[in-house]
Amino acid sequence: MISRMFSRSEFLFEEAKKILVGGVNSPVRAFKGVGGTPIFFKRAHGAECVDEDGRTYIDYVGAWGPMVLGHTHPRVVEAIREACAEGLAYGAPSVHETQLAQKIRELLPSIERLRFVNSGTEATMTAIRLARAITKRDRLIKFTGCYHGHSDSLLVSAGSGVLTCGIPSSPGVPSSLAEMTQSFEFNDLAQVKEAFRQRGNEIAAIIVEPIAGNMGCIPATEEFLSLLRVLCDQYGSLLIFDEVMTGFRVGLHGAEALYNVHPDLITLGKIIGGGLPIGALGGAAKLMQELAPHGLVYQAGTQSGNPVVMAAGLATLAEIVKPGFYEALQKSTTDLANALSESAKRWGIPLVIHHVPGMFSLFFTQRAAVQNYQDVKDVDKEIYRKFFHGLLKKGVYFPPSPFESAFVSAAHDDKILNKTIRAVCEVFKEI
Ligand SMILES: *Cc1c(COP(=O)(O)O)cnc(C)c1O
Repeated sequence: MISRMFSRSEFLFEEAKKILVGGVNSPVRAFKGVGGTPIFFKRAHGAECVDEDGRTYIDYVGAWGPMVLGHTHPRVVEAIREACAEGLAYGAPSVHETQLAQKIRELLPSIERLRFVNSGTEATMTAIRLARAITKRDRLIKFTGCYHGHSDSLLVSAGSGVLTCGIPSSPGVPSSLAEMTQSFEFNDLAQVKEAFRQRGNEIAAIIVEPIAGNMGCIPATEEFLSLLRVLCDQYGSLLIFDEVMTGFRVGLHGAEALYNVHPDLITLGKIIGGGLPIGALGGAAKLMQELAPHGLVYQAGTQSGNPVVMAAGLATLAEIVKPGFYEALQKSTTDLANALSESAKRWGIPLVIHHVPGMFSLFFTQRAAVQNYQDVKDVDKEIYRKFFHGLLKKGVYFPPSPFESAFVSAAHDDKILNKTIRAVCEVFKEI
């Protein structure tokens, strides 16, 4: 009887809130950015998810990045099944770890040695610990609106999740630690130059998303990334590219190859786990070997290199190395972005769209360009809310926040894209 008045998702969310904080296990899922009740999913295949009420949605969240092949890709599921039958965890070396590491090293120029961890957060946290130990310096530079996970040192002006909740940083981060992290405007050459002029000899590392994905999608300019490389070389600081989101999404060799700017350390996650929890950091052998047990910088993990996760990652990489994979992903993302842009023009909706292969975002703004967090901050949240809920009704699931990137997978074929474009046109017309 209840089902006539409430959707099952609404009912399940009420139940969840009685036991899980805010009803969720990661803040953005709570729909605070758009209002309403989070959708509870029970299945997903290819480009589509099915909710607990049996409604189907075309999915542009893609589990926030990992599902570049689409959901439950048969090869990945099969690899996981086979790995499960062999053993779930050993807490001891298994050959899958070496295999996935070799595959990743073949593809990413900056990696000679690798360490697997369980999340992007762990990867960046370890990368900065390593950078601090190697340089014997404490200060970090990051960029406002870039998100590098939720470790204390990196939770300063940290992008979408905190933006959605309206929290600039986070209580509970010791001020003595937060002071060690300076956050500057993304794509602003003058600010970071000045910071190095003043304290360059105290800066352990710059950490940056080469293509920001956590304040919407904002590619760095070439001059910006090149300058970061030059400053780090000049002052003996380390450059860390956080490619947890962009790694194996924007291309086969990372954003580092697209820009031809190479970091000292790189962090990965999301796609390399094929949908299971993972993170990784890598870099030159002489840097990475400062980590225990070779070196003294401590880092460990009960589930690190879990054989089932490794199998999912290997199966995923086996698909994306196939010829034409990224060309197709680029084409579908570009086609979609162009169609949405035209439709917005037709209905007089102020819109800036950014897109890179597999990833795009819609900024509802009067601005001519969106370059950094300052520009992102004043997007029209009300239009986004209408856009999001309008599409949800039509069976298209966009990120439930105006500050998140949307993701396209290999499973988003022409039929799916055309259905999306028709739905968006109708919603723009209503707005
Ligand atoms: C998702 C993400 C992280 C954090 O990864 P988790 O696995 O959620 O801890 C870090 N950096 C970037 C750029 C990300 O997109």
